[in-house]
Amino acid sequence: MKLVFLGPPGAGKGTQAASVKEAYPVAHISTGDMLRENVKRETPLGKEAKAFMDEGKLVPDELIINMIRKTISGDACAKGFILDGFPRTAPQAEALDALLKEMGTSLDRAILFDVDDETVVSRLTSRRVCSTCGAIYNVHFDPPPEDGKCRNCGNPTIVQRKDDTEEVIRKRLQVYHHQTAPLIEYYTSRGILSRLDGTGPKDAVLALLAER
Ligand code: AMP
Repeated sequence: MKLVFLGPPGAGKGTQAASVKEAYPVAHISTGDMLRENVKRETPLGKEAKAFMDEGKLVPDELIINMIRKTISGDACAKGFILDGFPRTAPQAEALDALLKEMGTSLDRAILFDVDDETVVSRLTSRRVCSTCGAIYNVHFDPPPEDGKCRNCGNPTIVQRKDDTEEVIRKRLQVYHHQTAPLIEYYTSRGILSRLDGTGPKDAVLALLAER
């Protein structure tokens, strides 16, 4: 199973990928998580990517494509993968197609999680994440434990992402509409796009995959 999850920031791509992963033996590849890990470890890639990420801009294609190339062709992806947050530009989508072709394979589906901008702003300004394990909380619907320790890993490292402020979220939405939304047409014209209501029930994507 080789899937791309498309949609604006905060559409629920990461949450959905985690639930698909429980049901199918696939790797969940989030370029955002990979970049944040590089920033945390202060690698050369992390140092280069940080300023773009803090401002809500896209990290240059070349850096992202090199990063993803090694991952997709590695053992962890042998049974399939969900790409969450990649591709985000036409050159990234073309590079992905070329890479899969080299490997003698291709994408099965691109799933678009449709969510309107105001829902994104409201979801992301109330999002909190554990900077150790990536667990996601929401101050209204799923607040972090009172002792501040992550339910998943036990570390007191629950934070608001630097790019989850309203100003940066609006910038990220602009970037999404200009640079990523054209991929909807790209995958529609290849006949592999499925559109889901990203405000709908969490199990919708599992139901869709089970139908196939
Ligand atoms: P995300 O966690 O997917 O919202 O990504 C957080 C930030 O990482 C984005 O705002 C970008 O700065 C950067 N990023 C993640 N994935 C990509 C990508 N495929 N291309 C360029 N930048 C990316």
